[in-house]
Amino acid sequence: MIKKVPTAGDHTLSRCSKCKETSNHTIVAMVGDRVARVECNVCGSVHNHRGTAAPKPRSASPRTSAQPRKTRAQAQWADMIAAADQTKAIPYNIKTRVRTGDLINHPSFGMGQILSTTRPNKMEIIFEQGVKLLLCNVAD
Ligand SMILES: [Zn+2]
Repeated sequence: MIKKVPTAGDHTLSRCSKCKETSNHTIVAMVGDRVARVECNVCGSVHNHRGTAAPKPRSASPRTSAQPRKTRAQAQWADMIAAADQTKAIPYNIKTRVRTGDLINHPSFGMGQILSTTRPNKMEIIFEQGVKLLLCNVAD
């Protein structure tokens, strides 16, 4: 038996999104050995080929402005918060004397930890939303 490789113009079974059923389609475009686009012989709509097998799992929800996955900074922040003693967090105040490693409780950004400081008055601090540069009073 010769293995038949489909080509454009051949017929194949595909699931039509308009008819909502698997029906005869004409192949419109191929990608390598795979059927890419088909035309429904019932309603005439052209769409990507969907075989009769289950499609590859793919996130159904379209991308939104919200961040569905944790960024590296968020993961780092979560680890930091889990390891830190939050009772020692210092309420954020521009005049508070701080050091690298101090926990800061910021009124807007929440809990954060100082990654580095730059004299006399800047600190790099990681919050859940990411790393921010804030003014402070570097202790030494
Ligand atoms: Zn159709």
